[in-house]
Amino acid sequence: MDNRDRVFIFDTTLRDAEQTPGAKLSVREKIEIAQQLGKLKVDVIEAGFPISSDEDFEAVRRIGQEVEGPTVCGLARAVMMDIDRAGEALSGAVRPRIHTFIGTSPHHIAMIGKSPDEVLGMAVDAVSRARAFVDDVEFSPMDAARTELDYLYAVIEASIEAGASTVNIPDTVGYAVPEQFGGLIRNIRDNVPNINRAVISVHCHDDLGMAVINSLTAILNGARQAECTVNGLGERAGNASLEEIVMAIRTRGDYYELYTNIDSKEICPTSRLVSRLMGIPVAPNKAIVGANAFAHSSGIHQDGVLKNRANFEIIDPKDVGLEATSIVLTARSGRHALRHRLEELGYHLDQNDLNKAYERFLKVADKKKEVYDEDLMAIVEDEIRDIPEKFQLLYMHTTSGTGTIPSATVRISVDGESEIQESAWGDGPVDATYKAIAKATSTNVQVDEYHIRSVTHGAEAMGEVTVKVSRKGDGATGRGASTDIIQASAKAYIDALNHLALRAGVRRHRTEAV
Ligand code: MN
Repeated sequence: MDNRDRVFIFDTTLRDAEQTPGAKLSVREKIEIAQQLGKLKVDVIEAGFPISSDEDFEAVRRIGQEVEGPTVCGLARAVMMDIDRAGEALSGAVRPRIHTFIGTSPHHIAMIGKSPDEVLGMAVDAVSRARAFVDDVEFSPMDAARTELDYLYAVIEASIEAGASTVNIPDTVGYAVPEQFGGLIRNIRDNVPNINRAVISVHCHDDLGMAVINSLTAILNGARQAECTVNGLGERAGNASLEEIVMAIRTRGDYYELYTNIDSKEICPTSRLVSRLMGIPVAPNKAIVGANAFAHSSGIHQDGVLKNRANFEIIDPKDVGLEATSIVLTARSGRHALRHRLEELGYHLDQNDLNKAYERFLKVADKKKEVYDEDLMAIVEDEIRDIPEKFQLLYMHTTSGTGTIPSATVRISVDGESEIQESAWGDGPVDATYKAIAKATSTNVQVDEYHIRSVTHGAEAMGEVTVKVSRKGDGATGRGASTDIIQASAKAYIDALNHLALRAGVRRHRTEAV
């Protein structure tokens, strides 16, 4: 029996992080991540903002029904149409929660154009309405860290009275400092008469690099739910990083005397999946999940670690799921072996997708003999993008070399109807290919970022390309993997164009949320 208090982990990767430009996910990708968050054993998944788009609605609906374990939460402004839409999305969910919010700082009240009393009334009405759909309601006074104290206490008390069982204190703009924010949580505990009927939650942003320490200080002062994201992704500088909060509480259990329910061995697999699908690489020096987080380079340190890990290592890499790949598949591995390995990696494919993945796998295995887990992940994630393909690459040919002008010819199908063939020359084969694709698709986008990395080791490794494009302020990310890096580059570019085409058809509220 564990006498220590539990800190609930509320993951908002699929809502706060997904709102960042270029990180848009398809419904299918959101479900993949949600399944992995279930394996990680987060307590709550904030799956989306149902009123914001039909896709968000569908993602919340399906995750609520299909992902076992965590509570599944939908976000709603404190207005009836938002709450009704969230309630509708969660109507078939096993463990539903509605999270409703309204700005309570002088800045935000002025922005809404209401009086403080009217805002308090809207909060109460929103919570009551949400309770008509679900028993589990969370309320956030947005920009709480800049809200006048007596008014904040009154709003929190009224929201609990109306039926909120979690009260979240967001530092929406990343303005808080640890001692002050911790003091705010303590003040709320001391001054809100009915506070023991609700869990206090915190939601911190990293604008000053203090999201994690603000969250931990709040927890020391009585908060028992932390809202966070995988890899610390999120609006602007991001949210508090899930892996850092969890591993701080675990590694320094002697100090915090708390625990979470997280299965830490799933941390690195989750980090990799989110990074891949959102197209946002993890910095090598990122705590816990960066490529160098456990690399010891100085001679003294290496020697020390070999004698005893604890000399220079506070976390065993195995505890966060960093283990050398032990199983390698080859062209002789059958469909069954592939399915088995993919299931161990967390992918559950239906027969159709498995067949597609198997064909890709055989082509890769043919070229590079040994196929590692990372290769498999690249193959599968390539196959499960699952967005409507306005443009499809049918054929490509490039030439380059010393003394030749790099050129490319592509044939592209548009809307599955017409086929268009174009050629172009450029500074190099990728540039030529991109120009040919731009002509064939009649698109005019700017390439903002281009990353290529090898998925595994050696000269035969698969290359994975991530490309970010933008057009009139609207951005999208595309990804492609292949043993041929020019082909991977072409796939990534077309994937980005398909995402942009998809976004053009989706009306999305750009409301700054919580
Ligand atoms: Mn936020």
